[in-house]
This record gives sequence, structure tokens and C-alpha cells, in this order.
Amino acid sequence: MFEQFDLDDKLVAATKSVGYKKPTSIQELVLPEAMAGKDVLASAPTGTGKTAAFLLPCLQHLLDYPRTKPGFPRVLILAPTRELATQIYQHAEQLSEHTNIKSGLITGGVNYGSHKEILTSTTDVLIATPGRLLEYIDNEQFDAREIEILVLDEADRMLDMGFADNINRIAGEARWRKQTLLFSATLAGAGIIRFSKDILNEPVFVESHPSRKEKAKTHQWIHLADSKEHKIQLLLNILQQEDVKRAVVFANKRETVQFLAGKLQSHDLANVWLEGEMPQDKRNAAVARVKNNRVNILVATDVAARGLDIDEITHVINFDMPRKADIYVHRIGRTGRAGKKGTAISLVEAHDMVSLGKIERYIDERLSRRIIEELRPQHKEARVPQKKPKTKVKKNAGLSKKQKAIKKAKKAKKAAKKK
Ligand code: AMP
Repeated sequence: MFEQFDLDDKLVAATKSVGYKKPTSIQELVLPEAMAGKDVLASAPTGTGKTAAFLLPCLQHLLDYPRTKPGFPRVLILAPTRELATQIYQHAEQLSEHTNIKSGLITGGVNYGSHKEILTSTTDVLIATPGRLLEYIDNEQFDAREIEILVLDEADRMLDMGFADNINRIAGEARWRKQTLLFSATLAGAGIIRFSKDILNEPVFVESHPSRKEKAKTHQWIHLADSKEHKIQLLLNILQQEDVKRAVVFANKRETVQFLAGKLQSHDLANVWLEGEMPQDKRNAAVARVKNNRVNILVATDVAARGLDIDEITHVINFDMPRKADIYVHRIGRTGRAGKKGTAISLVEAHDMVSLGKIERYIDERLSRRIIEELRPQHKEARVPQKKPKTKVKKNAGLSKKQKAIKKAKKAKKAAKKK
């Protein structure tokens, strides 16, 4: 229960509306330390709930010490990629839903015009990729001196990507801060520890020990889509993201598989496709091309993918939602094998909401809803009326033994009469 922490009711309510029942292990470990104002050095891979582990203490700090005058952001979160920064931003928006806290996103690949508002109006939490933010600092369009909490997410990845100098410079600019939280998938190797020495002040070390269930969990989410065309745009966008190393795209019909294969090809996304009636040699050749890394996208129906043995699938994408929950589980079981974390993304149209409800009940989890900013759905999520579970009323329930015996006798008499 999130009530166990000293969190504001508005934040607890937000955790409920996003569907968190209880804190994950990293949240249990980080929240008390971070809320006590300490610096934290945490090892937590993606999928463990690390984002909420740093967002909640940051939001609580902003609620505890409300802003007295307009100004620059007070919390700065740095992330390695545009995709991750966008996810953190969406998460921040969800968790601060019941508050007046304002978040902003600054990443590369977006022109200055869309950042202007964030830079000139009052934003409380800024999520940014280091390179772009530094440009604004260098041009004196951004002042980091009002930062009170600095968060470095996926710090190991940022170092791998050569951001060390940029981060050091930003941390230097934000030198008046009170607290720094550093998250890394791993603390192994000297790099991250050495790097953290200058940035953190007497940090508390926190290592997540995700339960087996958490570890084995495939990272799953959905994108709501307005139409088939919208789903195609979402699919193209997802397949072009850099962390998609090997993907299987599922469609419900053979015609859709063929159509998608052509569509992806026309966008330079080399792929192979499988359909149930393909001769075995062609099928083997298609699978071999994936296994040999000649192509990294396979498009298939459930029937065609049956018995398919391909390792290291990083992403399963449901272009069509399966109609049955066990098929969903079967599909997503193809990713995240051999202890590796997999990702399963489903594209959901209004008419899929019933299937989605069934799947969520089956896996006993609400799948998080994600948005790709430039492909934001126009329609709101369709609400499916909840079916009341049918409670079978047992015949003769509530009758005493004597009454039951009388009823039985009457029935026997009636049957005898009929004869
Ligand atoms: P993260 O590691 O922050 O990327 O989170 C992985 C996924 O777990 C996201 O979809 C979160 O919405 C979800 N999540 C985070 N905290 C919890 C929680 N306490 N209970 C259930 N799901 C959570």
C-alpha cells in the first residue's frame, strides 16, 4: 500500500488511478530515503517501477514546499533517450494529475518553438535529454540554478552514450540543489561509482531485489488507436525505435500479415512474414533470415508462428489484439526469454476494449496506457460496461433441512403421478 509512506493523499490517489496496488521492491527501498532528503544511488533495471520511485519523492517535495514565485524548474530529470524522457514525462503527468504541478519535456529532434513555453513560463518538473538542455543553458535560455532535486535516470546508459561531460556540466550549473538521485540498471564496474562520486553527496546505496515475479515480468503496455491507419503509423514508429532489436508483429488474419509486410517494406523496414499455408522450405528460409540477423522483423499470424523457436526477441507487437486471453499470454511469452527482459506492446482500437478487459482480468494486471506524442489518439478510451459476475443461486438455498425434505417428497409424488 502506498499509504505506508508519508505521501500526500493526492499522490496516493494517483497511484490508485494508474492501477498500482502495492509498491514494488525498489519503490519500498527508495521512497523513505529519498523522502528524507538523502542522496540515493540506486541500481534498478527498467521494468522494476524505478520511475515512480524517483517521481513520487520529487512530487512530494514540491507539495511540501510550494513555489512562492514563478521561475525556472525546481526538479530536473535527465534521461538518455527521447523515448525514455517521453515516458518519464507521461508518468509525471499521471502521478501529478490531482495537483497543480506542471511538467515539461525537452529533447532533441524537436524545434525550439515547442520548447519555448517550457523555457519562458513556469514549469516545476523538467525532463530532458542532456545534449539539448545544455544548448539552452549555453545560450542562456535556461537557468539551472533553481534546481532543488536532480535525477539521473539510466545513468549507465548516459555514460555509454558519451554524456558524462554534459551531465557534469549540467550538475555544475545545478550546484545549489539539495538532493541528487542517481538510477542505473547496474552498479557493476567502476565507471558509474567513480562518476557518481562528484555528483552525489554521501549517498544511500539501494539495490533492488526484484521478486521473481517482477524479474520475469515482460514489460507490457498498450497504445490506444483511432483506426487501422493510426495503428500502422504507431507500428512504423515503434519499429524504428532504437531498442527494437528483434521484433515479432502479430496480426489476426493472413491478409493483414501480407499487407503489413508490404507496408513495412515500403518504409525500408526489411521483414519476413509467415503464413500458415507456406511450404515448409519457404518457411524455414524465412525463419533462417531472422535467426541469421539478416532481418529483424517477423510478421505472422498465431497459426504461422506456432512452434516457432527464435531467441532474443526483444519486442512482441500485437498489431491486432488477440480475441482470447490465453493467446495473448502465449504471444508475449516469446519475448523476455533466458532471463532477458522483453517488451510486449499492443495496439488497441475501440472495438478491442472487450478483449483487452478479458486479458487484463486473466493476467490480473491493468496494462499501462502509453502515448507517442506525435501520434496521440483523438478519441478517449472507450469504456466497456462491466459485466456483473453471474452468481449462481443454488436451488433451494436458504431452506431448512425439513423444508428441503418436504420439497423432495412433493417432487417424488408429482413424478409418481405422471407415471
Ligand atoms: P519502470 O521500471 O518505471 O519503467 O516501470 C515499469 C512498469 O511498471 C510501468 O508500466 C509502470 O507503470 C509499472 N509500475 C510502476 N510501479 C508499479 C507498481 N507499484 N505496481 C504496479 N505497476 C507498477
